[in-house]
Amino acid sequence: MGIDKINKAVFLDRDGVINEPVYNHKTGELEPPHDIKDLKLYDWTIESLKRFQNMDYLMFVVSNQPDYAKGKTTLENLRNVHNELIKIFDKNDLMFREYFYCYHHPEGIIPEYSIKCDCRKPANANVIRAINNYNINRNHSWFIGDRDSDIICGKNSGLKTIFINEKNLNHNLADYNVKNLQEAAEIISQIKNLKNDTKSGKTEN
Ligand SMILES: [Mg+2]
Ligand SMILES: [Zn+2]
Repeated sequence: MGIDKINKAVFLDRDGVINEPVYNHKTGELEPPHDIKDLKLYDWTIESLKRFQNMDYLMFVVSNQPDYAKGKTTLENLRNVHNELIKIFDKNDLMFREYFYCYHHPEGIIPEYSIKCDCRKPANANVIRAINNYNINRNHSWFIGDRDSDIICGKNSGLKTIFINEKNLNHNLADYNVKNLQEAAEIISQIKNLKNDTKSGKTEN
């Protein structure tokens, strides 16, 4: 029943996967961009996302954005960065189904946002909702991220996981470890080809 409607998806973390984190000279920490001028996609991002799209993966962003809750920036700034990202994707004919941002942080300073929620990765409420709403087949779907919380979120959601680390550090829970999104796209397309080669009329579930 509805087997032909089962979709596959790629869930992507944003900062450190799609765009470069921003170095904060005051704190020495890497942060998400707080200003559109700091939003820089990696050279290979657009091409890699096109590959997912051309392979018929539904695409979602799943991103923790606690810096407003922590008092480090405004919600408006974070929304501007998001809108800029959408503009870039639109220009390149890239379509994401949904963007799941968690603005909460359990130890923030803005009371309404300083809660323990069910959407801050590794919590996976948004991913599970998407899997149900979009009739997504977990066995054929992926979570790609550069943090422990991404891999745990993906695993807990029953997805295959790819850990990105530019220094090639391996995450022992991840199914695959790569240097960047380009390599992740390569792995997913290879696995897809393998499956096509070995199709035997069996229905996978
Ligand atoms: Mg990240
Ligand atoms: Zn949340």
